[in-house]
Amino acid sequence: MRSFYDCIVVGGGPGGAWAAKHASEGGASVLLLEKDREIGIPVRCAEAVGAAGLQAVVDPQPAWISNKIKGAVLVSPDGREVVVSGERDQGYMLDRKIFDYALVEIAAGAGVDVLTKAYVSDVIKPNGRVQGVRLQHMGQTSEVGCSVVIGADGVESRVGRWAGLRTSIKMKDMESCVQKTLSNIELDPDYVYFYFGKDIAPGGYVWVFPKNDRLANVGLGISGEFSRYKSAQKYLQDFIDKRFPHASVLYTVVGGVPCAPTLKKIVADGLMLVGDAAHQVNPMSGGGINTAMLAGQIAGRVAATAIAQQDVSEKKLRQYAAEWHKAQGKAHERFHKIKKAVYKLSDGDLNKTADAVLSLPPEERSLANIFKTALVKHPSLIFDVIRVFVH
Ligand SMILES: Cc1cc2nc3c(=O)[nH]c(=O)nc-3n(C[C@H](O)[C@H](O)[C@H](O)COP(=O)(O)OP(=O)(O)OC[C@H]3O[C@@H](n4cnc5c(N)ncnc54)[C@H](O)[C@@H]3O)c2cc1C
Repeated sequence: MRSFYDCIVVGGGPGGAWAAKHASEGGASVLLLEKDREIGIPVRCAEAVGAAGLQAVVDPQPAWISNKIKGAVLVSPDGREVVVSGERDQGYMLDRKIFDYALVEIAAGAGVDVLTKAYVSDVIKPNGRVQGVRLQHMGQTSEVGCSVVIGADGVESRVGRWAGLRTSIKMKDMESCVQKTLSNIELDPDYVYFYFGKDIAPGGYVWVFPKNDRLANVGLGISGEFSRYKSAQKYLQDFIDKRFPHASVLYTVVGGVPCAPTLKKIVADGLMLVGDAAHQVNPMSGGGINTAMLAGQIAGRVAATAIAQQDVSEKKLRQYAAEWHKAQGKAHERFHKIKKAVYKLSDGDLNKTADAVLSLPPEERSLANIFKTALVKHPSLIFDVIRVFVH
């Protein structure tokens, strides 16, 4: 490890790996720091991604994929199932231990220096400009200088706050999630399942994402507003007891997902934020892998150009924020508006929506039509629905 790099990336998740790779390919010297001892572990994810979104940022390798998904089944509070089916391979179930590891391996292959067990405890900002990081590694504290820090340090991100950005989130926009990987269950492995209802997951949903026909990630996210009355863990246990009473639990994970609009400011002098750290998770689905990689790709490229031109000012780095906004930012805002409206629907509204959609011919049961039907009471949002799905 040198004492100075052009760019330091904090966090070895998908956002960090992709930012590091693209900065290095743009000609910057890059150091990626990960606090955990191994990339990809522990997994805090349900591991599902849209195939098109992933293919837009990387060529998916068979070893990363544990199952291919054909469609989704949306289950209304009274148990009606609406099947939204596409061609084969609409989505993938990743194996994130393998996937995250592979992404960082690709970044290392592109010239990135990687250090694990490297906990970043602060940014260095003499004169108010970020110019490096302080890190703890194997009992030693040291400082490494750089031109640009990319904070890809996930949902519990502190890099942005240390740099002076406003990173707080409203309680109702932070989904409390808990998930168990269940074996000894039976389900159709071609479909992901979403269960809705105030008694099941208020302000959120239960997901059942099959890794094969006997194994699935089963979890839920509920809005922070509700988790103080009954814990996410209790909601999930009630669901599992009812739906999969004979399941064995192979893995349990808890975590937060920021289902909020992207932070107002994601750059400062010498600093960029990427992925969960920047609140770039799709606020509707809670999926953040593809968007973190897309943001990382843009941020890494913009950082390398700024470094080459010896201008890493906030003004210069705003190019990243502008490109992010153009690619995804507007859709995020719309997803957030739609999420807020959908989560206000009563169980009765959701049941009626299921009824109305089931009366459509199967080929018209698209996600766009489901949301349009659900939001008939919010006509102003219909255009947002159309735009996000056309987008
Ligand atoms: C229960 C749950 C289920 C989910 N399911 C899905 C899903 O099915 N599909 C989907 O697309 N998304 C899902 N997500 C969201 C998804 O996991 C994240 O959006 C995605 O991992 C974001 O990538 P990232 O690189 O921004 O952050 P992360 O993957 O969180 O990576 C951040 C990295 O930074 C490291 N780090 C943090 N602080 C420091 C520090 N100070 N120093 C050094 N390293 C540090 C962390 O150890 C971590 O490795 C889920 C999230 C949860 C909690």
